[in-house]
Amino acid sequence: PPVIVWLRRDLRLSDQPAIVEAASQGPVVPVYVLDDETPKHRRMGAASRWWLHNSLEKLDAALRAKGSRLILRKGRSEEVLKAVAEEVGASSVHALHHYEPWWRNAEKAVAQVLDLHLHHGNYLAPPGSVLNGSGRPYKIYTPFWRALHERLPPIEPLPAPRKLDAPGNWPGSDSLKEWRLLPSAPDWAGGMRDTWEPGEAGAQARLQAFVEEASAYESQRNLPSVEGTSMLSPHLHFGEISPSQAWHAVADAGGSVETFLGELGWRDYAQNVILQFPEYGNRSAKEDFGHLPWRSGKGADSDLAAWQQGRTGYPIVDAGMRQLWHTGWIHNRVRMIVASFLIKHLLIDWRAGEQWFWDTLVDADYGSNAVNWQWSAGSGVDAQMFVRIMAPLTQSEKFDAAGYIRDWVPELADFSDAEIHDPGSASRLRGYPAKLVEHRAARERALAAWAHSKGH
Ligand code: FAD
Repeated sequence: PPVIVWLRRDLRLSDQPAIVEAASQGPVVPVYVLDDETPKHRRMGAASRWWLHNSLEKLDAALRAKGSRLILRKGRSEEVLKAVAEEVGASSVHALHHYEPWWRNAEKAVAQVLDLHLHHGNYLAPPGSVLNGSGRPYKIYTPFWRALHERLPPIEPLPAPRKLDAPGNWPGSDSLKEWRLLPSAPDWAGGMRDTWEPGEAGAQARLQAFVEEASAYESQRNLPSVEGTSMLSPHLHFGEISPSQAWHAVADAGGSVETFLGELGWRDYAQNVILQFPEYGNRSAKEDFGHLPWRSGKGADSDLAAWQQGRTGYPIVDAGMRQLWHTGWIHNRVRMIVASFLIKHLLIDWRAGEQWFWDTLVDADYGSNAVNWQWSAGSGVDAQMFVRIMAPLTQSEKFDAAGYIRDWVPELADFSDAEIHDPGSASRLRGYPAKLVEHRAARERALAAWAHSKGH
């Protein structure tokens, strides 16, 4: 009988153990279920939906080249898979493990109605398997990475199957277009189309390009004006490429690639955190943060909107937020700066920023997003201290962001490298907004808020 492959964030044919395993047992029915019900308020954001549309289109084409096709259905995962199984006479389902709390719920529900086989394949080591001396999962990244490192290299990637046997009858499929994952009016995805090639081929091309430059990663990764990082994050998030393949390709390239491999380690770490703390995206891990007097009301709402739209009067922050809006991605150094600015300079709850990122990032990832926001806020199990407040102007100069600012804040294009970080004098601002808050005053307000929360 045919075997179902249930696809989620694993939209690839290379190094895809669920597909390889299913194919060894019979004809394969690959199914993608658009399940907006199980995740509730964690349904995919708009930028992710744009990416998903394109990735599914590419995956269907790749499957067709192997004699197969992609079946698209909408609804609760367990109900849809049960219906498809009945239509094709299948009883077993193969899938990769996912660790978002809603996916773990869906896996339980599917396992109650079908014979579900879950495989490891989206992380360097299975989340939950890297344990300390007393058999417990790590809460802190550094010892986690040390322990994970000892288990590496990850298993060699599996090749894509040459051909996939088709079932006698194909079950019906929705039309991708009718899912309306793409924006229509207005079409805000132009910058995304210019920046990205979603799908497995695009992921492989990014990896190849990065491998050639990987030795420069160490010295360039913090400079937003150069393309010094891999830009693999959305591809890894959607599972268009496996971390094992990225690991082997980059490790083989030689040079000082340890830092890059450690970043893949952060990706694994984030999954281990949400496995221990499923509510990590919705709640601060440290109790003091419950007493922090976050700003709310009209003034805070309009400051939040200014942050979202890149109108804070801090060029490095505005450049980052505009890059996010146009391309669905921000350079990591700038993510840290904009997050710190929202939380500390504007004293707005990190969860408002997390949600904005959730909707606008093409790499929006429950674990990675929450872990990094809670790291920036200081509220996480592994975090910098709240009282370490990044100075945006100093960061902008230190990491030489002039070129980056010129790219994203055209109003400032003719400012010199020396002036552009802090354009100051209002007469020359030409439509560029004045600063929303002064650094010193904002810093003092944040420190006072912190002292207040500690007093509780
Ligand atoms: P590279 O530097 O080339 O790194 C390679 C890969 O390692 C990345 O593709 C990514 O998968 C992983 N990685 C790198 N840094 C981190 C990190 N700090 N945490 C977890 N994984 C990492 N990353 C996401 O994938 N999704 C998110 O939703 C996300 N939200 C973030 C929110 C904030 C506030 C901050 C500060 C960081 C966030 N990051 C998130 C982490 C990081 O910024 C991005 O992974 C990175 O910028 C992606 O670019 P790259 O692929 O060129 O990274």
